Amino acid sequence: MNNLFKKCFAALSATAMTAASVPYIAPVMAADTETTSFPFTIEGEDMEGATLWTDIYGVAIGGEYSGEGFTYLTNDKLSFKVTVPEDDMYQVVVKGAQILDKETPRQQTIVVNGVKYTKQVPYYDKWTDIDFGTLRLKKGENEIAFVNEYGYLAIDKLTVSKAVFPDVTQATNIPCDADATAETKALMSYLHSVYGKGILSGQQEIYGGGHSVLTDIRYDAGSDKCVDGKGKEYEIDRDSEAVDKDGNKFYWHCSDDVRTYTYDEQNRSYKYDYYDQEFDFIKDLCGSYPAIRGFDFMNYNPLYGWDDGTTERVIDWVKNKNGIATACWHINLPVDFENYELGEAVDWSKCSYKNNSQYSIANAVKKGTKENDYLNLAIEDLAEQFLILQENNIPILFRPFHEAEGNGGLDGKGAWFWWSQDGAEDYKALWKYLYEQLTDIYGLHNLIWEQNLYAWSDDSAGWYAGDDYVDIVGFDKYDTVYNRHDGLTSGPNEDCNSNVYWSLVDYVKNNKMAAIMENSTIPSLSNIKTEKASWLYFCTWYDNGQDNFVSGDDYNNPETMKELLTSDYAINLEDLPEDLYTSGGSSNPSTSEPDKTTSSGGGGIEVTLWGDANCDDKVTIADATAIIQHLGNGDEYALSEQGAVNADVVDNGDGVTGADANAIQAIEAGFIKQTDFPIEKAYFDSLMKNN
Ligand code: CA
Repeated sequence: MNNLFKKCFAALSATAMTAASVPYIAPVMAADTETTSFPFTIEGEDMEGATLWTDIYGVAIGGEYSGEGFTYLTNDKLSFKVTVPEDDMYQVVVKGAQILDKETPRQQTIVVNGVKYTKQVPYYDKWTDIDFGTLRLKKGENEIAFVNEYGYLAIDKLTVSKAVFPDVTQATNIPCDADATAETKALMSYLHSVYGKGILSGQQEIYGGGHSVLTDIRYDAGSDKCVDGKGKEYEIDRDSEAVDKDGNKFYWHCSDDVRTYTYDEQNRSYKYDYYDQEFDFIKDLCGSYPAIRGFDFMNYNPLYGWDDGTTERVIDWVKNKNGIATACWHINLPVDFENYELGEAVDWSKCSYKNNSQYSIANAVKKGTKENDYLNLAIEDLAEQFLILQENNIPILFRPFHEAEGNGGLDGKGAWFWWSQDGAEDYKALWKYLYEQLTDIYGLHNLIWEQNLYAWSDDSAGWYAGDDYVDIVGFDKYDTVYNRHDGLTSGPNEDCNSNVYWSLVDYVKNNKMAAIMENSTIPSLSNIKTEKASWLYFCTWYDNGQDNFVSGDDYNNPETMKELLTSDYAINLEDLPEDLYTSGGSSNPSTSEPDKTTSSGGGGIEVTLWGDANCDDKVTIADATAIIQHLGNGDEYALSEQGAVNADVVDNGDGVTGADANAIQAIEAGFIKQTDFPIEKAYFDSLMKNN
């Protein structure tokens, strides 16, 4: 429990002196007089290191400045300090201007306790409120500074406020595809039911040949048997007989009831493709498998295409394990596209998903072009696999054309992949084309559409394909070095990128859920709580030998991973409801959404406003006081019948208790929102425990 929360209790107990026996009330604490009161405003010219300006070399800024004038960020660091009672999120808004560069936004750098955060600020010749987003401040004194890297920012004044976040459960639970299958709707409904309340754990699998594991199984010609070092015998596939270069007979395949093994000529023993290495690692460490398994459909393609078993593994994960599947699509182009003949096989080494100047994205969506013909072939190969999933009643979270913005900008110059190389407008046309092909032409209605976005600048929203084509937006978190509040420059970055989260929520007007669709370091439980970022899920990339994103302690601290995955906040494979794909968990009381609209059952009186115990049409600390007075001295301070119905917010139906008062106070402390009412006690307690 944090100090801010204790202060609320202190304020409460001062006004509730008549309460006789009050549960859960902490001792009275002296108010901390040293903390800054928010919103906090400081004139730019009053910052440490500031000089007073009234124009910029003879050029006046449009509009009125406040105070004596403003300050102009040229060389010296400008700073000020605020003191906060607890680690928490704050919003910094600068009333500023940027008149140096009309053409391109200038990168501005704000430094919080030595950690730099950047923002692109366009040309403003009038005083404009520039939102630097939600920044994390630490308990105690914090230095907020502006430094001039590429900046030249005029600052009239700035305001720091406690961050206020929207209720993310307002995001839709309806797939954008109006004809979505029943299973797809059920999955979407389940995802929505946990969004804002927990985080689904996820893990990307290795694709292609998997992790190759060499065994000590050998073919013994003398006994004509396949045996391992412990003497276990394996069944030989007699049809796979072959002869090596020395004339020795062997068999390509042998098997046991777990898997099939393939002969390795170099080592003269058998090996197998291991796709579960990361999953078994997580299970061994945390005791559970992740809820989501990430796949990649890149190998079903018109060039070097082969069946690497991905579709089969999706079916196994969803049907047999009751897990959730997500998939990306690293679809390749032939590098020499100009000389490529449609339908021709191309060696994988001559194919790439990188930018390709021979391929025009505008042409890709235009009938009759070679680009369009190739794209259609690629979509056909993908659709064939998705149709198999649909026939098996399997929905999948599909994340095509991912990480489009790349290093930033709308023109595609920052692109890492061919699909976004020609800029945001062509990219969005390509996205819509794929959407229409898969849904309208191939009749695929088992897809939940996921789009990756970034938040480099306000322009980043320009990549969003739109509400009609996207169900969930996401961010790929590979941030080991940059933008970390702990100030370290190496090792796992356990931040949960709250600033990005709230930017994404803003881009989609809080209408879509947001997830970490790929990551290196998993955010820590405490950072998730402090930064108040309600990512729907995370999905750690696989170990590739070079970068061991899951098992490498340069990417993930095992203890941090374990703490999150074993917490009540994480939803793992075993936590998914049995009816996930039939009714989206709604027949399981532990995951169902409480009914927030109907009566509490208190004598047929309808709730007018959850938490409004004193019936003044608002929910404040006074309602908690009214409840405590009612409990302490019901003769004198009894709640009205309506008030008692409104007040029963925790474990609704159990009558008015001290827990109801506590929950109302928790709103003031920022732990929950009025819209969370009614709330289950177990869930409320878990929130309190984690604060
Ligand atoms: Ca000023």
